Amino acid sequence: MIETDVVVIGAGPVGLFQVFQLGLLGLSCEVVDVLPEAGGQCVALYPDKPIYDIPGVPVCSGRELAAQLLTQARPFLPLDPATGRSAHLHLGQQVMALSQDATPGFTLQTTSGQVFKARAVVIAAGAGAFVPKALPLPGLPADAPPPANLHHHLPVDGPPVPWAGQHLVVAGGGEEALQTVLDLSQASDDTRPSRITLLHRRDQFQAEPALDTAVRALITQGRVELALGVPQNVELAWSDAGVNAPPALTSITVLGPDSQPRTLPLEHLLVRMGLSPKLGPLADWGLPMERKQITVDTATYGTSLQGIHAVGDINTYPGKKRLLLCGFHEATLAAHALLARLRPDEPQHLQYTTTSTLLHQRLGVKH
Ligand SMILES: Cc1cc2nc3c(=O)[nH]c(=O)nc-3n(C[C@H](O)[C@H](O)[C@H](O)COP(=O)(O)OP(=O)(O)OC[C@H]3O[C@@H](n4cnc5c(N)ncnc54)[C@H](O)[C@@H]3O)c2cc1C
Repeated sequence: MIETDVVVIGAGPVGLFQVFQLGLLGLSCEVVDVLPEAGGQCVALYPDKPIYDIPGVPVCSGRELAAQLLTQARPFLPLDPATGRSAHLHLGQQVMALSQDATPGFTLQTTSGQVFKARAVVIAAGAGAFVPKALPLPGLPADAPPPANLHHHLPVDGPPVPWAGQHLVVAGGGEEALQTVLDLSQASDDTRPSRITLLHRRDQFQAEPALDTAVRALITQGRVELALGVPQNVELAWSDAGVNAPPALTSITVLGPDSQPRTLPLEHLLVRMGLSPKLGPLADWGLPMERKQITVDTATYGTSLQGIHAVGDINTYPGKKRLLLCGFHEATLAAHALLARLRPDEPQHLQYTTTSTLLHQRLGVKH
């Protein structure tokens, strides 16, 4: 169990800026995101698209903004030299349960079994947890663990790449699947699959013309195979390690547009059919909501449950705009409200990062 002042749910742009603001005010925090990478919508939905309305930043891409926010929050998310990761940034896990403790505070639990005990919670969950759209695979037992060679995300930290030198089937016909196929076909020798098959239900893609053309060229050159059809059944290999050990997919039988079944042997299946936000357990935490958004007061961004605040796209109030700039403002006021609540005896006066020695110490600025 990890004890902390604040747990931030969501490492999107607003959650990352929330970590920075809390750290600046001397509050400890842990941040959790279901995605394997920080950055929320900026990284998951529009990594390469330009953003023009961040004050003082004429233009930057979604991925660049997320990287800068992570760098800015780094004093409060320090990297462990042994792992190259921050012990305070918990990725690839969804916060499933939140309960109020008898002593003031909250207990939170994630899908990885991590438990947090926090004095306050900031929900920066955007439109909900981004979970990958699933490829329906008839024949996959519902009560068994998911196959070990079924993937939905690209490895974030680079090698080792599970499918290097093996046959990888990429499922999907949109931008995400096509870009993945293009990138993997050009990957370095130590990360590239030995064979790539693109599996889609029909011979028509939903992608920018340039991407469509590039992938079709790979197919024509024989560097990528195209398998058309809808999965009808799967073959699994079971491990000797017991019934709770994940099986491995060995083949998928698909029914093609010609109504002929075809068996596709594989070593790894990577489903790239996009992400969809799921509000999930958030809706059951007894928070006041309007149209799937949490209502807050605009002085503190607190909810009606004392100690729980909500910032960014997840909240609503009169005049709310789902803009990055507005989320950053909300995170700033929420941090100040939490300082007043959690450290009532500390001076609450505003300090500037330009001139405050205390803030410089917290930021690790050397004079
Ligand atoms: C195509 C597009 C273009 C845009 N362009 C602009 C623009 O030019 N300017 C602008 O100001 N805004 C723009 N926006 C809006 C902007 O991206 C959002 O306002 C911003 O991303 C909101 O940030 P957030 O941190 O609140 O939420 P998000 O970015 O949605 O991040 C929330 C994070 O919380 C995680 N999460 C949710 N629930 C849980 C849970 N239970 N457990 C663990 N993790 C959880 C999610 O996985 C996600 O990573 C654009 C949006 C889109 C889709």
